[in-house]
Parts: sequence; structure tokens; C-alpha cells
Amino acid sequence: MSSILSLNSVSKTYKSGNASLQVLNNISFDVAHGSTISIVGPSGSGKTTLLGICAGLDKSTTGAVALQGNNLNSLNEDQLAAIRNRYIGFIFQNFQLLPTLTALENVMVPLELRGEKNIKTRSMELLDKVGLASRSHHYPTQLSGGEQQRISLARAFSNSPSILFADEPTGNLDAETSEKVVKLLFELNKEAGTTLVLVTHDLDLAAQTQRILRIKGGHLVSDQITG
Ligand code: ADP
Ligand code: MG
Repeated sequence: MSSILSLNSVSKTYKSGNASLQVLNNISFDVAHGSTISIVGPSGSGKTTLLGICAGLDKSTTGAVALQGNNLNSLNEDQLAAIRNRYIGFIFQNFQLLPTLTALENVMVPLELRGEKNIKTRSMELLDKVGLASRSHHYPTQLSGGEQQRISLARAFSNSPSILFADEPTGNLDAETSEKVVKLLFELNKEAGTTLVLVTHDLDLAAQTQRILRIKGGHLVSDQITG
């Protein structure tokens, strides 16, 4: 099975003044094309840092990260931005919609960056899929948390990413809303055949992916196939 993402001995150390903090320690794993995987671990264990490095938002201190055959360590900021726009979708715990843009405009952003055509039609289709076509002209502040996360799902899938990274996507939502958002996430993911890398501390949610990685204190402590 070919892998879309490959980490080889990745470590990350944050330095401030004389102090240095090692947040990730010698982490290696491969993620197969089209698979779903969760990363779980206590707060502060390095999950967000790890996801940021996998997605080319941040660089590892040592070790190598390859995404879709591209060695991320060797790329500059512009090249990383191009890789992100071409291959990657991202969903954050706090939604991160652009506050000055409407729901529709937020969904259009990744497509606009790509210079694609007919982006309004495609974006409206996605809003419809997440059940929010009627809210296309609303701004993020006019939407509930669950609605904002559904908009960010539509945005994440708009450029048909090869791989989707979701960092505690239900962390700011109540149980009932979480369930709806998760259902939608898995539906859209399955339909598009996207590889999913999900950070969560919800073990029931993690169990819905094919594989679970556990990290503790920056170390990969287990790698389990579910089911
Ligand atoms: P998690 O997502 O598992 O809660 P994080 O990856 O956010 O963990 O953080 C792991 C550790 O790295 C924490 O101790 C955190 O304080 C530290 N950390 C995260 N980002 C930075 C940063 N930019 N500078 C210094 N320390 C950081
Ligand atoms: Mg985190």
C-alpha cells in the first residue's frame, strides 16, 4: 500500500532564550492513501505541533516529512503554501473562518487561491451538502458554532484535498452538535476518498477511524489498527 504521508524520526524542539523544550521525540509513521487515522493523547502531548508539521504549517527540528512525495523540509514558505493549497484541507477546533467574509466567500477562498473557474457554483454545492445553502450570505458571527464548523468543512473539501487534517474538530461543540459534525465529516470524507488525519481526545470518535496513534510527552507510544 502506498503512503501519502511519511514521517521519519521527526523531532521538534522549541527554544526561548536559553531554555529549550522538546515537544516531539523521534516520531516515525506512514499514512496510507485513502485511510483514516486518529492521533490521541493528553493535553500538551504534542498533537497540534505534530499535525502542523505534517501539514507543512510548521517545520520539524530534525527528521523528515514527505507529503505526496514532496519532502516538506526542503521547501520554502511559498512552496509549502502551494502544496497546502493543492493537497491539504484543514479543520480547526475554533473554526478559523475569516470574519469579514460571508459563509459562501469563506468556502470560495481555497478555490480562488487556485484560480479555478465556476467557483461560486461549486461552493454553493458544498454549502448545500453541509445543509447551509440558505445561510450563504451570513457572516461567521451570525452562525452558531456547529454551523461555523459545517462551513469550515465545506471550505476544507472545496479544493478536493488529497488529505484532510482535523485538529479536535468537535472540541468546542456540545455532544449533539459534535455528533452531527462528525457524521458529516465522515460522509464527505468517504464520498471524496480523502485521507483523514484526526486529532481528538474523544476515544469514541477515534474508534471510528481505521487506526489510532497514541502520543504521550512527545513520544509515539502505540499504533493500533481498530476493528
Ligand atoms: P496538544 O495539542 O497535544 O495539546 P501542543 O502540540 O499544542 O499539544 O503542545 C505541546 C507542547 O508544546 C506544550 O507543552 C506547549 O506548551 C508547547 N508549545 C506549543 N507551541 C509552542 C510554541 N510555539 N512555543 C513554545 N512552546 C510551544
Ligand atoms: Mg492541541
